[in-house]
Parts: sequence; C-alpha cells; structure tokens
Amino acid sequence: MYDAIIVGSGTVGLTIANLLSNLGLKICLIEKGSVTNDVSKAVGVNDECLLAWQLCGVLEKISDYIGYNQEGEIILKYFDAEKRKIFALHQSLGVDNFPKGVVILQNKIDEILLQNLRGKVDLFFDEEVIGIIQNHEFIAVNTKKNSYETKYLIAADGRESSVRQLLGIKINLLSESKDEWLILNLLVKNRVLTKEFAEVFCGSQRSVVSCPLPCDHHRLEISLLKNEHDILNHEEKIRKIVSAYTDFPNYEIVNKFKLRFTTAIAEKYYENHIALCGDAAHCTAPFASAGLVSGVRDCLVLYEMFKSKNIKFSRYQKLRYQKQIGSLKLAIKLGQVMRPSWFSEKILFFVIRFFARSRLFISYLSLRS
Ligand SMILES: Cc1cc2nc3c(=O)[nH]c(=O)nc-3n(C[C@H](O)[C@H](O)[C@H](O)COP(=O)(O)OP(=O)(O)OC[C@H]3O[C@@H](n4cnc5c(N)ncnc54)[C@H](O)[C@@H]3O)c2cc1C
Repeated sequence: MYDAIIVGSGTVGLTIANLLSNLGLKICLIEKGSVTNDVSKAVGVNDECLLAWQLCGVLEKISDYIGYNQEGEIILKYFDAEKRKIFALHQSLGVDNFPKGVVILQNKIDEILLQNLRGKVDLFFDEEVIGIIQNHEFIAVNTKKNSYETKYLIAADGRESSVRQLLGIKINLLSESKDEWLILNLLVKNRVLTKEFAEVFCGSQRSVVSCPLPCDHHRLEISLLKNEHDILNHEEKIRKIVSAYTDFPNYEIVNKFKLRFTTAIAEKYYENHIALCGDAAHCTAPFASAGLVSGVRDCLVLYEMFKSKNIKFSRYQKLRYQKQIGSLKLAIKLGQVMRPSWFSEKILFFVIRFFARSRLFISYLSLRS
C-alpha cells in the first residue's frame, strides 16, 4: 500500500511527488503519457516555485533553465497599441530572498524533476487512471493494466482531470477569452539580448506577450484576429507577426499551438482522502503568470500537511480555495488591461500613462496574483 499516489506528471505532479518522497513516504506516480510533457506552457513563475524546487532538491540542477533579473531591474514592460510605454514592473524579492519574477524552460524543469524521482518513487508511465474506489481503509486506483492501493490520492492530472470527473466534482467557469491565441516557443539563433525583460503589448485589436527565456528560447503569445483562425498552416503569416514584435534575424519555431484561455475552478478541492491539485483544481488564463504558480502553492500547502502528519484535506481546501478565487479574479482583471475595449484603450491607457497611482495599482495586481 502506498502512502500517496500522484496522478499526472505535469510540473505540479512532479513537484508534489518530489516533496512527499523527500519526507520518506512511499509514493507512486501514474502518468497516461509515455514521457513528461515536452511542450512548455508556463514561462513566468515566482519565488515560491524556487522555494518548492529547493525543497525538492533540484534547484541547483535546474539553474541553467531558470532566469531572473536583479532586484530593482525591469522585468516587464506594458505598451499600448501604439507601442508607447504604459508602465514597467521591477524585480523584487520574496520568500527566502528569492526573486519574485522568474522565467523558466518548463519542459527542462519537468525532465529534471522526473530524473530526481528515479529510484525513490514508483513511476508508471503509459497508464491512464480510469477508476477509483474509496473505502474506509484505502483507495483503489485502477488503470487499464493494474490496480494500486493507497492511503491518499493527489490528482494533478490537468484541466480535464479524470479524477475530478470520476468523483463527479463540477468545475465552475469564471471566464473564457473571446479570441483565440497563438502560442509560439522559439529558439533564437545568434541572439544578442537587447531587452532582458518581458513585453506586453496591450490592444483591443491585437495583444502580444513577448518573453525572453533561458538558453536562447523565447515565448510569444499572440491574440489572433478573426480572419487568422487557420494561421497554423501559414508560416509566412506567423513570421510576419513575429517580426512586428521582435528584432530576431534568425529563429526556429520549436512548437506552435492555438488555444482559447479559460479561467475555472472546481466546486471543491477534495473528497475524503483525495485532493485535487494544480490545473485539476483550477485553471487560469496566463495573463498574471498564475497557473503553475498556484499549482505549486497547492503543493507547498499539501507538503506542510504531510510533514506535520496532520493530513486534513478539508483544511487544504480552507487554506487554498478562497485565495485561489482571489488570484483568478486578479488574472481576469489583468486580462482586461491586456485586451481592453475600444473605450478603455483610449481613456484607461491615457490615465495609466499619466497617473502614477494607476500604475501602482497594476503593479499590485501583477505581483499579488
Ligand atoms: C499558453 C500558456 C501559458 C502559460 N503561462 C504560464 C505562466 O507564465 N506562469 C504560470 O504560472 N502558469 C502558466 N500557465 C499555466 C500552467 O502552464 C499550468 O497551470 C501548469 O502547467 C499546469 O500543470 P499541471 O501539472 O497541473 O497540469 P498538466 O501540465 O496539464 O499535467 C497533467 C498531467 O496529467 C496527465 N493525465 C491526465 N489525465 C490522466 C489520467 N487519467 N491518468 C494518468 N495521467 C493523466 C496528463 O497526461 C499530464 O501529463 C500557462 C498555460 C498556458 C496554456
């Protein structure tokens, strides 16, 4: 019998598996895919993620795949549709003096978190969880190949969480972006970094996030116009947009995908000895770099409970649920700054550019979430 089974080898599942195995618990991780996700989604994380990965024992090993600016340096600049600067966000320090604004190569971090589990945790890839039976003594977790018994189950199986669905826990949709977004992970060749901070171009027509990443990688998130729904088939159109927002002479498109952002939260985070964690519990548009950050926060709260041997998932819900709703609402507000209505674009941005107090408000939103 396992002390805990983790479902899902996304960054959240890998992080909680590392944290719990470091407490000497008998852990098993079950993943339906054959490898960890090789497409990075999250790019911006925070001090608490660094703390969690330090507790996992991987901080040194992932150092090549994280980047941050020094305290006081610019980490993010917002521009209006005419590319005039609206305001800038500066680096500050958080828990244990870790920087609050950090960029990562998520797929590389996942690889290292997985390597660190080998020999300590039972890893079952290519196994999809299809059934759960919970009784007073244990939980039986069924895949197509096997059945496993555990005292606790942590579902980190992403926004379509099978565990959440098997438990019949509903998910409440808080918002859905009206436009589709194109996500590009680029490898920039012979890059000379002129701007070591992320840029957010706000606009009612087009919004773009441009973010330099470690190891010459770069992320672009581009809101698509109505007539661009088939853009994935037109590389020349993609390259035209890229050249409008970057100065890269030469780059490779490592991967590209399209999606509509949703913000949603499960109606509850647990059922007896089963807890939902990360995107399985809540998902958000990435406007406030909040999805993975919130998932890692879940991991830290669960870790403290297992460490103190006082494991009550009702308390986990109490500690995380309302705070998460607050984070999601902040992310929605930041999204409205990025995708303003025509009126906001003309009036709000004027106000933001000329009044320091409103700039402080946006900084507050960005850092709170
Ligand atoms: C474009 C984009 C940009 C983003 N940017 C940021 C950012 O800058 N900062 C930030 O903090 N967040 C960001 N996010 C959000 C962040 O990426 C996610 O919140 C985070 O990666 C979720 O991790 P997870 O481990 O909870 O879920 P996932 O990464 O979805 O992992 C779930 C895993 O569970 C497995 N699984 C599913 N069902 C089963 C089953 N039945 N049995 C076994 N395994 C199963 C899946 O195969 C998968 O490997 C962004 C998201 C997107 C889409």
